[in-house]
Amino acid sequence: MQHAAPAENIPDSQNWHDETAVLHGDAWLAADTSVTPPIHYSTTFRADSANAFAEMANTPRHPGFYTRYGNPVHQRVEAILASLEGTEAALLTASGMGAISTTILALVERGDHVIAQQRHYMSTSKLFEEVLPRFGVESTIVDQTDLDAMAAAIRPNTRLIMVETPVNPTLSLTDLQAVAQLARPKGIITVADNTFASPLNQQPHALGIDIVLHSATKYFGGHHDITAGAVCCSKAHAEKIWSMHTTLGSVLSPMDAWLLLRGLRTLPLRLERINANALALAQWLETQPQIERVFYPGLESHPQHDLARRQMRGFGAVIAFSVKGGFEATSRFVSSLRLATHAVSLGGVETLAVHTAAMWAGTMNEAQMAAAGIEPNFVRMSVGVEHIDDLKADMARALNAPA
Ligand SMILES: *Cc1c(COP(=O)(O)O)cnc(C)c1O
Repeated sequence: MQHAAPAENIPDSQNWHDETAVLHGDAWLAADTSVTPPIHYSTTFRADSANAFAEMANTPRHPGFYTRYGNPVHQRVEAILASLEGTEAALLTASGMGAISTTILALVERGDHVIAQQRHYMSTSKLFEEVLPRFGVESTIVDQTDLDAMAAAIRPNTRLIMVETPVNPTLSLTDLQAVAQLARPKGIITVADNTFASPLNQQPHALGIDIVLHSATKYFGGHHDITAGAVCCSKAHAEKIWSMHTTLGSVLSPMDAWLLLRGLRTLPLRLERINANALALAQWLETQPQIERVFYPGLESHPQHDLARRQMRGFGAVIAFSVKGGFEATSRFVSSLRLATHAVSLGGVETLAVHTAAMWAGTMNEAQMAAAGIEPNFVRMSVGVEHIDDLKADMARALNAPA
């Protein structure tokens, strides 16, 4: 992969592979001799003179002035994330939603028009459909698999297009290069939520997307123990978004930034196993008589498998499938899992599974769920790094659980 962020004083660092970049891509920022980075648990940072203070206070994104503005641990994580996504810069936030809302609010103004997908992470949909209109920004929601609809939605005042791929509930894809080609000649900013893929499996920026967003809660942290978010983009966009960030204040704690840094060290190793496990499990599920249908971009049966192969290198942790026998049978299956943990989220070392319809039962009625594409017998699973045979054995036992 291309590494745009320079590890300035290390020869060959721009040619490093991801495995090396996650371990050494921040070494040039080391302020002392400790091999493992220190946690800079300090809200504020000292200046040695009035001049030095003035410089600290007036340098955008200074990593050692005040922690809402920046922190040395944040800076090290940002160097690695920019390297992985192939962007000039990155900005850490306290959650994925912090990254998404801060980015969008930094870029739009009253009177602007924006385009977003029919399917998005639920809180992202809420931002576009409910929050932005309150501030005089109009949204058009389009089916992301229909590029003609996307093109037709563009207006003279369209400011940005938000995409996300793969996306819940059926892991449908958005053609990133095609969206970038629609937007770029018109000066429209493109923003992609790359959480479900990770930069190791998919690099939106290399396909022409301007700004890449992440819930770092997922693969980057990788251990289901922090919430964090990230924005990867040009230096100019990063400064603009950072300026809004200092106002909205979605600031990650130095401890969580350090845990994120530790998580990133093993990201390529974890993802290699996750990609392999998820593909093997999806293929195996397709052969099980109790399963109606499996959704995974890596399967030949996925309706956009060609696009998946064109824009992804691996297909990620999340698989969705429908169990024969409706809501009750699905509920029984999920309750019978012993190895796979019954919990939301994705991209961590442990396998997690949820009965999607049960998750939304409190906030959506049946008609709303149908509109959102959520069938009563859907299971969403985030495959972890356990041994594949143990995962299959757990699933096989749960599929055969007596009624
Ligand atoms: C989890 C997730 C988010 C939100 O991230 P948080 O860290 O929970 O705020 C946004 N987009 C996608 C695709 C996600 O999976």
